[in-house]
Amino acid sequence: MSELLARHRAVMPQWTALYYDRPIEITGGKGNRVSDAEGHSYLDFFAGILTNMIGYDVAEVREAVERQLATGVVHTSTVYLLRGQVELAEKIARLSGIPDAKVFFTNSGTEANEAALLLATYERRSNQVLAMRQSYHGKSFGATAVTSNRAWKNSGLTPFNTVFLHGADRHLPQFAGLSDADYTRVCVEDLRHTLATATGGDVAALIAEPIQGVGGFTMAPDGLFAAYKEVLDEHGILFISDEVQTGWGRTGQSFFGIGNHGVTPDAMTFAKGLGNGFAVGGVVARGDLMDAPHAVGLSTFGGNPIAMAAANATLDYVLSHDLQANAAAQGAFIISGLKDAAPRFPFVADVRGKGLMFALDLVDPETGAPSPALAARMMEETRKRGLLAGKGGLYGNVMRMAPPLTLTSEEAAEGLKILVDSLEAIS
Ligand code: PLP
Repeated sequence: MSELLARHRAVMPQWTALYYDRPIEITGGKGNRVSDAEGHSYLDFFAGILTNMIGYDVAEVREAVERQLATGVVHTSTVYLLRGQVELAEKIARLSGIPDAKVFFTNSGTEANEAALLLATYERRSNQVLAMRQSYHGKSFGATAVTSNRAWKNSGLTPFNTVFLHGADRHLPQFAGLSDADYTRVCVEDLRHTLATATGGDVAALIAEPIQGVGGFTMAPDGLFAAYKEVLDEHGILFISDEVQTGWGRTGQSFFGIGNHGVTPDAMTFAKGLGNGFAVGGVVARGDLMDAPHAVGLSTFGGNPIAMAAANATLDYVLSHDLQANAAAQGAFIISGLKDAAPRFPFVADVRGKGLMFALDLVDPETGAPSPALAARMMEETRKRGLLAGKGGLYGNVMRMAPPLTLTSEEAAEGLKILVDSLEAIS
């Protein structure tokens, strides 16, 4: 065990999730690669943890942060006017497509979801909410209450009365063989039945990830959330799209993941990639919801000048380089390469994803049971070959990949080769 790992184990809780048999200490980053304390270089196919959305040591972001630091104003609190905050809010409100949108900044995705749920439950004076099975929305008391995986919930104690819906679980045996349209129809009927049988009728909101992140990149068929929204509207239920992983063009198809469904939510939450490594999150929602008196209030660090400088520079970079188009092109190349290779590996149950958000679902080839052991072996094999990835899924059997949106076509080809070579190695 390395000296740092021993010290980590001594002072950090056991549940802090370190990847790899020999956990890595990242000591440098440039472009879409990072280097470790032992001098190895890796192509980062997880972009930190979807945080380094435009890669490492990006001059535009570094210089924007340095300019802000040079003013001496590192933090004067959001009780004062902050130009960078207003500018960023204007951009996000415009990009969101939400009518009369307003923006509230937080420091993380968890806090963003807390704020959105506070808004919705305050607005509707109800603590009943809907969420999706296998969802992950963060680690606070409220966020775990809408998270749907026993391992991530910590306890059954909850401030919300939450009912969990189908919609991102068509791999379950009861849905086998259904077309997208039929699965969507079954889910919508189930939503109506759930509202009639499992709620008191005064539900505040549905919160959902357009593509489930930690849940293993499982996803609803395009259009399902539009069909859900029709039912929600009939009941005055707000729709919150958690874009913490899917925002900013990552899915290639649309700028926010929910755009793939052709529906405009009442609120969206965001975090992870926006600050390209600097902590920034937030909610963008209909102005009338945001303006509800006393709904949220102040965040001391949310929207701070350093985070705003980083986020403005990152978002400008994404837009000026049309990284959504790059995500679509590089993602299509890798996903189709993996789909072509998959039939050679009976333990690959599914290759799925959109844009630069794609996954390998690994199972025991004999029994078809989810295989976290194979996912762990794939992680080690890809690491050996110089590629970092993520793990996830309800059973920890999904290898998740979400490279920086700046991935080049050479890096996409290199990454695909490493993935296929690693599949060969474990087969
Ligand atoms: N929502 C989604 C979809 C996430 O993937 C995450 C984190 O992985 C969160 C919320 C929580 O964000 P944070 O870890 O920044 O609190």
